[in-house]
Amino acid sequence: MHVTFYGVRGSVPAPGAQTARYGGNTSCVEVRLLDGTTLALDAGTGLRALGKALVREGREQQVHLLLSHTHWDHVMGLPFFAPLWKKSNHLIVYPLANEAQQRFQRNIFDDIHFPVSVHDVPAKVELAKPDASAWRIGGATVRPVQLNHPGGAQGFRIEDEDGSSLCYLTDNELNAPTAVITTEALARFSADTDLIIHDSQYVRSDMPHKLGWGHSLVDDVLHLAELAQPARLALFHHDPDRTDDALDELGANSKARLAELAPSVELLVAREGLELELKRR
Ligand SMILES: [Zn+2]
Ligand SMILES: [Zn+2]
Repeated sequence: MHVTFYGVRGSVPAPGAQTARYGGNTSCVEVRLLDGTTLALDAGTGLRALGKALVREGREQQVHLLLSHTHWDHVMGLPFFAPLWKKSNHLIVYPLANEAQQRFQRNIFDDIHFPVSVHDVPAKVELAKPDASAWRIGGATVRPVQLNHPGGAQGFRIEDEDGSSLCYLTDNELNAPTAVITTEALARFSADTDLIIHDSQYVRSDMPHKLGWGHSLVDDVLHLAELAQPARLALFHHDPDRTDDALDELGANSKARLAELAPSVELLVAREGLELELKRR
């Protein structure tokens, strides 16, 4: 499995000199399976660059789109995804966390939020109806999990045919006041993967003001990694106000803390352009 980060920011795009190194685009991660199947995890503004990269490959594209949920920062890039504008391409959209979110397609291509309606998109857009508990995509098995987020959100565990695996868990508040999943249950869900990508938007000084907003404290994410023991942990969905220098510091502190809690887990701070090759341990 090959993983490329195209957008790592949370809430709203944050361009500018102070965020240029980690990047200001919102959530989008490409997963390329061993058999070449392309998955896009979320359609934040990072999706635009992914679309351009796919067009540069110059072949017909079939892309499997898995959305955590439909907040703006996770769908805003969709109209600007270049493969949508070519008839021979095929976008397969997987089910969302709940019925309210299923309406997103009509809302984003509704002639109000974007000038083109859903019926005039040239590419074939298909709504997949996979089995509820485990989705078969290319050579991989994908399992969704409900997360703690206002309005609902889902995470995914992706296991490729060679045994490599990743968990994408964003817009999740570990230890939320009203939780649908406990940290322990999520640790079991994400146990022994090669990579966990987790929402790490907040630090202690953000609390208690942002309690219940649906994002995690970095310290709680480190605790999840201690329980789940992945090979690597990528801090993700950075606060739009977190500057590059602040993320450097956050990364250094988290690395030191994780070295005590879970010495075998490698800590990464997700940034645009970061590529990882996942191999079975
Ligand atoms: Zn978000
Ligand atoms: Zn959200």
